[in-house]
Order: sequence, then C-alpha cells, then structure tokens
Amino acid sequence: MTATETIDATTQEAGRDFIRDIIDTDLTQHRVPGIVTRFPPEPNGYLHIGHAKSICLNFGVANEFGGRCHLRFDDTNPTKEEQEFIDSIQRDVHWLGFDWGVHLHYASDYFEQLYAWAEHLIVNGDAYVDDTPSDQMRAARGTLTEPGQNSPNRYRPADENLALFRDMRAGKLPNGACVLRAKIDMAAGNMNLRDPVLYRILHAEHPRTGNAWCIYPTYDFAHGQSDAIEGITHSLCTLEFEDHRPLYEWLLDHLPIDQLGLPTRPKQYEFARLNIGYTVLSKRILTTLVRDGHVTAWDDPRMPTLAGLRRRGVPAAALRDFIRRVGVARANSVVDVAMFDHTIREDLNRTAPRRMAVLRPLKLVIENYPEGQTETLEAINHPDNPAAGTRPIVFGRELYVEREDFMENPPKKFYRLSPGKEVRLRYGFFVTCREAIKDASGEVIELRCTYDPATRGGNAPDGRKVQATLHWVAAADAVPAEIRLYNQLFTRPDPGADGDVLADLNPDSLEVLTGCQVEPALATAPIGEPVQFERTGYFCTDPDSTPQKPVFNRTVGLRDTWAKVQAAR
Ligand code: ATP
Ligand code: MG
Repeated sequence: MTATETIDATTQEAGRDFIRDIIDTDLTQHRVPGIVTRFPPEPNGYLHIGHAKSICLNFGVANEFGGRCHLRFDDTNPTKEEQEFIDSIQRDVHWLGFDWGVHLHYASDYFEQLYAWAEHLIVNGDAYVDDTPSDQMRAARGTLTEPGQNSPNRYRPADENLALFRDMRAGKLPNGACVLRAKIDMAAGNMNLRDPVLYRILHAEHPRTGNAWCIYPTYDFAHGQSDAIEGITHSLCTLEFEDHRPLYEWLLDHLPIDQLGLPTRPKQYEFARLNIGYTVLSKRILTTLVRDGHVTAWDDPRMPTLAGLRRRGVPAAALRDFIRRVGVARANSVVDVAMFDHTIREDLNRTAPRRMAVLRPLKLVIENYPEGQTETLEAINHPDNPAAGTRPIVFGRELYVEREDFMENPPKKFYRLSPGKEVRLRYGFFVTCREAIKDASGEVIELRCTYDPATRGGNAPDGRKVQATLHWVAAADAVPAEIRLYNQLFTRPDPGADGDVLADLNPDSLEVLTGCQVEPALATAPIGEPVQFERTGYFCTDPDSTPQKPVFNRTVGLRDTWAKVQAAR
C-alpha cells in the first residue's frame, strides 16, 4: 500500500489523469479501434459512493472518447446475490446520470462459454481437478516468503480430469468435494499464480440461471474472460486487483480467445479506490449495518450508499462533481468528508429555493399587532436568481422563531433576541422584545414583543440599524413537520481502526425533531426536491412525508468547514 495523502480539491481539475492519458495514446497510436469499458458490480449489496468513482470513470471515459460502457453483473456467487440488488444497481447508475444502452450483461450469460474454456484448459494440461481437503490445500499454498507445495493431483491425466470436471458439473459431487485449478506455478512469487481455483461446487439456486448449474466460476476466471467476450478494451479496476493482473494475462494467453475475432485483447489497469473520512465503504460492513438494524435500510440517509445519499438530498450532479474533484490516481488516499459536504453545498446553493422553517419553535406574540389580522409579505425564492421569483408569505400577530435565537441574559456578542433588543424579521418588520414569559419550571415559553409598522419591507425610515435578521413562520398558516438531522455515522475518521467497527458507530448520528413549524409552501414540496431552510441548512422532503405531516432530511448544514480549511492554507 502506498502512503495516504489528503486530496486538495483545488488542485484537481477536470480532464486529465493517467487512465485518460493511456486511452488517448491507445487511440492515437491505433492500438485500439475504439474504447469499450465496463462497470462490473457484484449484486451482493447496494452501490456506494466508492462505486460512484468507478462508474464515473468507466462511463465517463467511454463518453469522452466516443466509446461505450457496459453494465455487467458479476453474478458468480449465488449464495450472496439477489434480484433486489440487481434492480437497485440499475436504478442507481441511471440516477447518477449514466446509461449502458443495450449493453446490460451478466457473467452468468457466459457460463456455457466459460465452462467450455475450462474444458479447453483441462485438455491442454493447463488445469486439473483437485480433491485435496480445503485446509490442506490452503496450507500447501505456502506463504509470501515460502513457495507452495505441488498437489498430488497436479499430474492427473487430462482425460481423468475431464471426467471428474464433468461429474462436478453433473451434480455428482457435494459442495467442497473438489475444485478446478489452473496449473501454473506453486513456487510463483505472486500467490495468485499458485494454481488458483477456477471453479468450485456450489449447489445453490442462482437468481438468473436457477438450478442449471452447481459449479460456479471464481472471480478471476469469470472476470477477464467476460471482458474478452464483450470486447472490453480497458478493464479499469481498483488497486487490490493489481496482483491479479498476471493471472488475468495468463488466462487470456491460454484460452482460444482469438476465436472471438477481437480487434484487440482486453488490458487491465488499476486505480486507487475512493476512501472518505468517517465513512465505511466495505459492502460486508454495510450489509451488517442493514441486517443488524444499526440503520433503517440500505437507503437510510446516513448510509454512504447512492440510495442513501439520494434520500438525504445529495444531487447526482454534486456527486459527479465531487468525484471529478477527487480525480483518478494510483496513490491511495483518504478524502476529507468536509470536501464532500462543500461540493454538495456549492451545488445546492446554486439550485435550492429558499424557504423558512423553524426547527425548535418559540412563540413570539406581537402585542401591538391587531388580533385576528394578517397581511402578506413577499419572500424571495433565490437571492442570486431573480428568475426564481417570489412567493407570498403570511405575517401576523403570532409567529414562531427559533428557540436558540433568544437569550434572556445574552453574552456581549449575542445580537439576536433578548429583553429590550430590536431585530429584523426576514422579509418583514423590526420587532423589539419586551418580555419573556416562563412556565412553572422557569422555561421560556413565549416572547412578548412590539413591532414598528414603519419598517415593512425590512428597513427603518429613520435609518436605524439592527444587528440580526431572524427567520420565522406565522402561527396562522405554519405546518407542523418532522425534521431529521443527520450526523456522521461513525465517530472517528478511520472507523474500525481498532478492530471493532461497530464500536465506532456514532450513537448521535440521527436526531429527530418533532413539532417543527414550516411555511406552507413546504408542505407540498415534491419528495427529494432540495430546499434551503434560511439560516439552517439544505433539506429535502423524505418519502415518509404525508400532506398532514411533511418530513424533511437535512442534507447538509450551512457552515462550511472545508472552505475555512482552504482559506487558511
Ligand atoms: P466486494 O468485492 O468486497 O464485494 P466491492 O466494493 O469491490 O466489494 P464490487 O461489486 O466488486 O464491490 O465493485 C464493483 C466495482 O467497483 C469494482 O470494479 C471495484 O473495483 C469498484 N469499487 C468498489 N469500491 C470502490 C471504491 N471505494 N472506489 C473505487 N472503486 C470501487
Ligand atoms: Mg470487488
């Protein structure tokens, strides 16, 4: 592993990276007639933000260089794969903005061809059936410093191997009875070349092939050969497959792939996977979080899955922009989660309409405003985009303001409400706090204020200033809402570094606020549509919403720690 480094968002601009350079050269030197890539997920979970990097790279270069990208399910392990995952993966790739056209493929489509190729290896003496018990087989593989031992089955004649392999396929042998191995080199420095397993027996129903097969190819045997069948030119994968590349090459060398009539044979290139602070991108762990109820589902907004991010309100465009900024390199690194939030904020700041919502309401009564009367003010939908227009909002005697915008005994620099203090209400009037009413326990339950009718529109004719502008909603038409605030799912930047990733779960990752009050325009907002709650953050409507009680997810707060870090540099 290479040393970790922090990526600087400002140094990565669009366009160039070593993969794109390779492709450019291959095209200009006519090594390939055109480029074909693939995104090859195993349908054993939902896609996460790390997959987004691979998707943006594979589909991105195909688009940029006039080629095509396939979506190929690597569905070779039926015990872990499900139709739900196949469906969710297609939905998520589309949502991210990419399309495979007619090139939706499955490794299972090639099972017959792969099987024929396995027989080809056997006949040529390049593969053998090994019935050594698995623990002994493991022990005989050797270590990084010691060569492995040849299996006694290594010299079994080809016709015997063929008969045994056919018995495996015919279902005559139980799980684990034997495997098919490539005959390469038990002393190879690269462990992947020590007679790797190509097929194993697995009596399990497959989501697509049902019970047609009881032997399944391993990743190494299925992957490169699927690439060849589909005419993939650049097989882009993450660095952990670097040590598999010699095997990828060996298999292509020993199989009759020229019969496919390919203009060129596939080549594998590796890039660094995406890692993000405070975030787990292991499908195994994400599966545990869902299965054991640490989150509500794969699309829980705290999850780093594409479905979770979408539900949280992260726009696909922001995700693509983030991936572009991270760039493609060969050095492993950990991206600061603040940079991700910064990218989301930048996008939403441009696109999200402004609304007012009070998260923790405190009633404010304007004593000199006539009872039973209301009036309509005009609120701006987007400060930087006049075309977004305005909307009417109701103002009246009783309002809700944010509890934290009042302090009875404020410190020096607290400019918001306190007894005697005048502030501006957004889009409305100046109000002065006269008194705080408390309940029996001493908690402030209501503010009594007066307003200055001459300040309609937000300015005083005499030119006097106030130091704070507060958001509010009118009790007359506010809609009660639930608002869900999300914090990091893990408490440390490197979850699991001490061994137990579950011990690093943040017990405060979800805070549910009930009894919030939002302006009526929000009650009918379409599910998932982003809005900015003025002074609070970016939110979107959750699918749990009803017209009577909308539910909002906080996508990201307003405070930008990343911008501060960058400014300090
Ligand atoms: P596992 O193999 O442990 O089930 P995986 O995350 O590698 O998990 P795959 O379905 O095999 O899952 O991944 C599909 C593709 O996405 C692979 O090409 C893989 O290299 C790539 N990928 C997975 N995680 C990341 C990541 N964090 N950053 C970039 N690419 C990734
Ligand atoms: Mg994988």
